[in-house]
Amino acid sequence: MKYYSTQHQAADATLREAVERGLAPDRGLYMPENIQKLPAAFFDHIDEMSFQEMAFEVAKAFFGEDVDEASLRHIVYDTLAFDTPVVNVDGNINALELFHGPTLAFKDVGARFMARLLQYFIKQDALANEQVNVLVATSGDTGSAVANGFLGVDGIHVYVLYPKGKVSKIQESQFTTLGRNITAIEVDGVFDDCQTLVKNAFMDAELNAHMKLTSANSINVARFLPQAFYYFNAFAQLKKAGKLTFDADGKSNMVVCVPSGNFGNITAGLFAMRMGLPVKHFIAANNANDIFYNYLQTGEYHPMPSKQTLANAMDVGDPSNFARILALYDNSWEAIKANISGATYPDPSIRQTMKACHEATGYVLDPHGACGYQALKEQLAQDEVGVFLETAHPAKFKEKVDDIIGADIDIPERLQDFMRGTKQSVELPNDFGTFKHYLMKQ
Ligand SMILES: *Cc1c(COP(=O)(O)O)cnc(C)c1O
Repeated sequence: MKYYSTQHQAADATLREAVERGLAPDRGLYMPENIQKLPAAFFDHIDEMSFQEMAFEVAKAFFGEDVDEASLRHIVYDTLAFDTPVVNVDGNINALELFHGPTLAFKDVGARFMARLLQYFIKQDALANEQVNVLVATSGDTGSAVANGFLGVDGIHVYVLYPKGKVSKIQESQFTTLGRNITAIEVDGVFDDCQTLVKNAFMDAELNAHMKLTSANSINVARFLPQAFYYFNAFAQLKKAGKLTFDADGKSNMVVCVPSGNFGNITAGLFAMRMGLPVKHFIAANNANDIFYNYLQTGEYHPMPSKQTLANAMDVGDPSNFARILALYDNSWEAIKANISGATYPDPSIRQTMKACHEATGYVLDPHGACGYQALKEQLAQDEVGVFLETAHPAKFKEKVDDIIGADIDIPERLQDFMRGTKQSVELPNDFGTFKHYLMKQ
């Protein structure tokens, strides 16, 4: 399959090129040149398949030309070693829990898939002994997912750059305690400084001649496309439970609500719909960063500096995957509005929602999922079935959650294991020369 750039100024790329580059040379995002519709028989029998089996069928549609079947099956089965259950929360509102992976957040899926796919490409090289180095800047969540996704993967070393003292202890423990092929670099600066160091490294000719560098941020096709898998799983579970109805055209009454920041997750859902998944419509739930919400109202897109909120993984003022949504809908505002509605919640509403939902149902929402739940609460019609993506385990935000709902929520064993680990990190000043010198010695 060929991948084109949303900027249309760069040559088409192979899957391997798209994965190794992340961003296209013209700074556009890669898009697969076509999206296959899955056959009716697939949807008829989807509720009899395991999550891994159905995901493999989805993966073949995108990667089947570029990865041999046995290897692709292995990559998919290894990525989905955990389930994404649908849990009923409240009436016709359900949560698709995406937090049963290694770092308890949905980014685990894409990170693991990308690690395995990159490893597959590296192994194909005759000169297989050249190590690939992944550089990733993080404000918390991405670093932990990437570090754990790549942990122990032969031939790849990961450097996670994070701002010293600006990441919660729980988050920090998830990428500083691993060791092996993961190095955590604590930078005396803020997140933007980490990102600048990484960008400068990619542009430094001497450094790139010395070592093979690649990125693992969320715009990478290998991280983003696999997120389509769990939308099929949500549908399969609701179908199996007999909760869905279908109209004469085969359209279901399933409404999917996605707490969104960079809009990678929801874009993967839109891809699933293009593949034939019968979603009635999508809701993009935002925190106070309401750029996309305003776009839906006005047709105008105005990027803004991001605002800090309780749901901080969604603090994005210029969502990178907006370019993919435009490409998917041929720049038609009307077409986008016909498939997606919006919602935006300031912090006091997020707090209120978490508290009210806990009191009424006992379900503990994390601040991101809370935006999703509230949007369904407000927008779902009586004859519809809603599912919101619960993007992270509430214990990842324990201090905030405990304070808001007035409880002492349990920390899953997996998270406790990280917190018991020993921190290993390299401390560096916010200075590219020092960072480069450090990498040149590796
Ligand atoms: C990354 C993240 C999001 C936002 O996902 P996008 O794909 O950037 O829209 C939402 N919730 C959590 C917990 C996240 O980590």
